[in-house]
Amino acid sequence: MVGYGVAFALMGLVVAWAVVNLVSLGKATDAILSENYRSILAAENMVDALERQDSGILLMFLGNTEKGIAQFRENEAVFFEWLARAKDNITIEGEAELVHSIEADFATYRRKFSALTDLRGQDKMPLRSSYYQETIYPLFAKVRAACIDLRNLNEETMYAASVRAGSVARRAIWSTALVAASALIVALMFSLILAERIVGPIRRFMEASRKISEGDYTVQVPVETGDELGRLAGEFNQMANQLGQYHEINIEQIIAEKNKGRAILSSIEDGLMVFDTKLKVTGINPAARRLLDLGFAESGPLHCEDIFPDQNVCDLIRKTIENGTQPGVPDEQRIVTLPNGEGSRHYLFSVTAIRGRERNLSGIVLLLRDVTRLKEVERLKSEFVMAASHELRTPLTGLSMSVDLLLEHAAQGLPEKDRDLLQTAHEEVDRMKALVNDLLDLSKIEAGRIELEFESVPVPTLFDHARAIFKSQMDMKQVALTAEPAADLPSVRADANKITWVLTNLISNSLRYVSKGGHIRLTAHRVGPHVHLSVRDDGPGISPEYQSRIFQKFVRVKEAEAGGTGLGLAICKEIVRAHGGAIWVESSPGQGSTFTFTLAVYS
Ligand code: ADP
Repeated sequence: MVGYGVAFALMGLVVAWAVVNLVSLGKATDAILSENYRSILAAENMVDALERQDSGILLMFLGNTEKGIAQFRENEAVFFEWLARAKDNITIEGEAELVHSIEADFATYRRKFSALTDLRGQDKMPLRSSYYQETIYPLFAKVRAACIDLRNLNEETMYAASVRAGSVARRAIWSTALVAASALIVALMFSLILAERIVGPIRRFMEASRKISEGDYTVQVPVETGDELGRLAGEFNQMANQLGQYHEINIEQIIAEKNKGRAILSSIEDGLMVFDTKLKVTGINPAARRLLDLGFAESGPLHCEDIFPDQNVCDLIRKTIENGTQPGVPDEQRIVTLPNGEGSRHYLFSVTAIRGRERNLSGIVLLLRDVTRLKEVERLKSEFVMAASHELRTPLTGLSMSVDLLLEHAAQGLPEKDRDLLQTAHEEVDRMKALVNDLLDLSKIEAGRIELEFESVPVPTLFDHARAIFKSQMDMKQVALTAEPAADLPSVRADANKITWVLTNLISNSLRYVSKGGHIRLTAHRVGPHVHLSVRDDGPGISPEYQSRIFQKFVRVKEAEAGGTGLGLAICKEIVRAHGGAIWVESSPGQGSTFTFTLAVYS
């Protein structure tokens, strides 16, 4: 408002000054017109009328009396009219005396003229030129000279007024220019001061903002005025204070969280490592250092492959980086064995992706859980089962032989009831023998006691062998067993005996569950570096909740036929795994089942 006020005041001053000057100029012009111009006009017309009257008199002397008198009278009226106007416009000094003398002299002049006309009327004397020369002309000349004086007087005054008006105009121009120039200078200075007053604080705000962005939250902008800028400065300072406080709180929280995380990582027994997406170690906890036997200096430039000679760990991390999540790898394949003093220890490893703000992958956490004890317990258990089944086999064989002999030789002499009891004992002993054999096989595999003899095995040979084994059973149950290996199937890398065991186990399961007139199909086809072998039947199928569990030990579907041990598929799984393959089932109740396992192509 002050800025606008000053600008308006200066503009008003210049305009007012210009108006004052214009008014005084107007007045000067007006004065010239009203005071002098009318008197000049009157004097000129009086001279004209006077000269025409004089001409009228001369006409009379020339003998044209009537016309001369008429001209005189006519112009006499004109003279009086202009004289009256001159009398009405007496404005300057000396003008009144001049007009009075004109009036008086003109009256004399008229009187002399009247005397002249009277003489002519009475015809007392003829018109003489000497009368004109001596009496009339001098009067005429005097009045005319007085009229010219009147005109000159007014002309001089008019000139003086015009000179005065000129000087007024010049003064007006200069003074207006001077006032305008000084107003301009004042306005310029004022706007500079005003601009500085506005821009100065903004500059200080900019400087303060820059400092805040550099992390200096102690910066304050001086509050100099109570206007909008002053209030803004107050708010700005408050904002800087609060930002500083938030910053402090954030830093404290971050430090607290970091310390918490560090404390957790240091206290857990599991080894924990963090990798970036290039598989470089970015963090490692003391437990991981210990179990990997890493010194404190070694961590920064280490690569996954420098630490784990076992390819599986780095492969799993790599796959997790590619997929975004850990691929579903069974626990048994996620064990890494690391040297420890004289012996070695086993660790179950799992990986978890770390995601950034935009959900993009920023790193990988690798957890190493020591499962040495669990493995040891597992091994002891298998050894115990193995020893127990081994010990049980000898008495069981004796028992079986005795029952067989009894059934063969003494059964005829026994009553029917006792014969049935003996028959039941024979069946139960057989079942027990099968269970003990299965347990022994499984524990041997689990304890790593079976030695696989890998060789190149053609799949059709495997299928033919299996069909030969089951020939009589198939005929008995009237079940068709067909083998349909794909053409050009490569040989597989396998231990033929063990894989025949798997195949016969799967076929005997199918045979158990298909009804009379059913169909069992053996198929095989190549998928990349593997061959998929399947046993498909059109039996009752397996409900989904059992499909993943039937490969565990002693798991049997509730309504399954009696006679099995619940160990067959568990043994199959162990054998296939020992071959580096996988086994699974696809089935739906009423639609039959397809058991598939994979073997590597022999190369
Ligand atoms: P078992 O000795 O009892 O057959 P397995 O481990 O071989 O033990 O099989 C586990 C269970 O899987 C069986 O009890 C049975 O319920 C189911 N099963 C296996 N094969 C088939 C099949 N071809 N059709 C239907 N169910 C099957």
